[in-house]
Amino acid sequence: MHVVLLGPPGVGKGTQGELLADALGWQRIVTGDLLRAQRDARTPLGQQAQGYMTKGELVPDPLIIAMVREQLATFPPGTSVIFDGFPRNSSQASAFKMMLETLGLTVDQIAVLDADDDLVVERISGRRSCPTCGAVYNQSLAPPNRDGRCDKDGTALFQRADDEPETVRHRLEVYHRETEPLIEYYEGSRAAVHHIAGDQAVEVVQTALREALGVEVGAS
Ligand code: AMP
Repeated sequence: MHVVLLGPPGVGKGTQGELLADALGWQRIVTGDLLRAQRDARTPLGQQAQGYMTKGELVPDPLIIAMVREQLATFPPGTSVIFDGFPRNSSQASAFKMMLETLGLTVDQIAVLDADDDLVVERISGRRSCPTCGAVYNQSLAPPNRDGRCDKDGTALFQRADDEPETVRHRLEVYHRETEPLIEYYEGSRAAVHHIAGDQAVEVVQTALREALGVEVGAS
């Protein structure tokens, strides 16, 4: 099963994808996380990507497509995968389709998490991340137990540079222009497209997501 999570930045795709993957034993390909790891390790890809990421622009397609292809190749055949943050525009979607086709695979289901721009800006401005383990918190919605510290390892949390309000607005513009049209693209494909209200509590969204995808915990 190949599931794509679509939705604006900050709507909760990462949280929902992680919950789902952990519950079902599925894998995830999260292009933003892969890029941040490359950037932090100062690899050539990370250095090429950094400027685009800081400005909230899309990293060039060939870099992304090669990165996804490489990651996908690490999974054994038959692995179920959740894609979060990819594809992000129509050329990535076409390349993705071809990439899967050459492996005899398809994009099966699309889950769109919907939310208004204002809510997204509000949520992202409260988002804080752990530089050590990557855990993500929200100051008002999902705060850490100890103010400003990661629950898992006690590291001081930080705000991503691209989570500053001005950059978030730009990321939203990019989302509406480049990524949102993919909903229509997938509605015209064989994949099933589900819409889920992303402005609800984490557990409510997770339940709706599982129902929409028709998955049961314990199945694969
Ligand atoms: P995200 O964590 O998904 O919001 O991604 C953070 C940043 O990484 C984005 O603003 C882009 O600069 C870059 N990025 C992530 N995924 C992609 C993608 N599929 N195509 C191009 N750029 C991406």
